[in-house]
Amino acid sequence: MNYRISNRAESLTPSLTLAISAKAKQMKAEGHDVVGFGAGEPDFDTPQHIKDAAAAALEEGFTKYTPSSGIPELRKAVADKFKSDNGLDYDPSQIIISCGGKHSCYNVIMATCQEDDEVVIPAPYWLSYPEMVKLAGAKPVVIPTSDETEFKVTPEQLRSAITSRTRLFILNSPSNPTGTVYTPAEIRELGDICVENGVLIMSDEIYEKLLYDGAEHASVAGFSEQHYAHTIIVHGLAKAYSMTGWRLGYLAAPEPIAKAINSIQSHSTSNPTSFAQKGGVAALTGPQDHLQSWLDEFSKRRGYAHETLNNIPGISCVNAKGAFYLFPKISNFGLSSAEFCRRLLEEDKVAAVPGAAFGADEYIRLSYATDIDNIRKGLDRLAAFTGKLQG
Ligand SMILES: *Cc1c(COP(=O)(O)O)cnc(C)c1O
Repeated sequence: MNYRISNRAESLTPSLTLAISAKAKQMKAEGHDVVGFGAGEPDFDTPQHIKDAAAAALEEGFTKYTPSSGIPELRKAVADKFKSDNGLDYDPSQIIISCGGKHSCYNVIMATCQEDDEVVIPAPYWLSYPEMVKLAGAKPVVIPTSDETEFKVTPEQLRSAITSRTRLFILNSPSNPTGTVYTPAEIRELGDICVENGVLIMSDEIYEKLLYDGAEHASVAGFSEQHYAHTIIVHGLAKAYSMTGWRLGYLAAPEPIAKAINSIQSHSTSNPTSFAQKGGVAALTGPQDHLQSWLDEFSKRRGYAHETLNNIPGISCVNAKGAFYLFPKISNFGLSSAEFCRRLLEEDKVAAVPGAAFGADEYIRLSYATDIDNIRKGLDRLAAFTGKLQG
């Protein structure tokens, strides 16, 4: 039997992060004391009132199909969130609830991109963006950045990456994997360039609330009617409410795009899980006080990790202003990021994600969504590992 795999699926790059995390899991199962810096999710539990709302919905029999774009109550709660947090006016008909922020990104790219289109993506990027673009048959155009510009793409770089084929620019601030947060003025300028060139912007704002050192989040949609008309915001509940396993995300788009996405979703996943959506309503409309204590904790860990990393000879690390990742440079040691991470795991039992997974081979990603004792232990081991490499 010839199990011919589609060109579409064959074009994908298997996830480098999965290989490392599978290995870390296996080592843990074998009894090794592995310190994990790989987590892409908060280590806190979902706030209780959110769980209660979903449990009550389940109990009350809210277990059937819902409208494919989500329950009206949740679409309205999302529209209200955009109004109160971002000053943006969206009608609930412009809001689509999906099965995670990742699914929202996928829907946007499927609804807007096709063969011969180019999609401009600054690197380091969230690893799914280029793969989704390839699935749509379009071409990722990657703009490299480095720690010298805090991993920010410059207006000149964006201008020169845009061609007559450019359909979409992907902006992710605060960023995974670097924690970079663009200032409002920088976002506006990138937005201006897209508007001038008729390029749509997919703005992934899922880390909007995870900001440090007074950093400010601005949505590109807010700068003018033109910016609004060119922007699709993707967002979700996973990070700010620690709801990664709930699979609940959302987007806000100009009406025709929302309509197209509704069609796509109605023929693929249909609605996101009914009772999870009730939890989503509780998350967005209920108390938000968990967030400050999470931020305080993240901020403490970030401060410790950032300082400790920069004290390790050969490593340098820009301080992140958002999300829960640091992205130290490790290229001084002469290893590829994959080799560095493989050896770090095998020899010193620390799991980190190679920068190559994010299009930046000179770095590794460390998540500080783990407790401070773990961070201390893991960074001590990292220092011992790099000491051996230098010695
Ligand atoms: C985590 C994440 C998402 C979405 O995650 P979901 O679990 O699918 O909601 C989207 N974009 C970035 C950059 C992320 O890190």
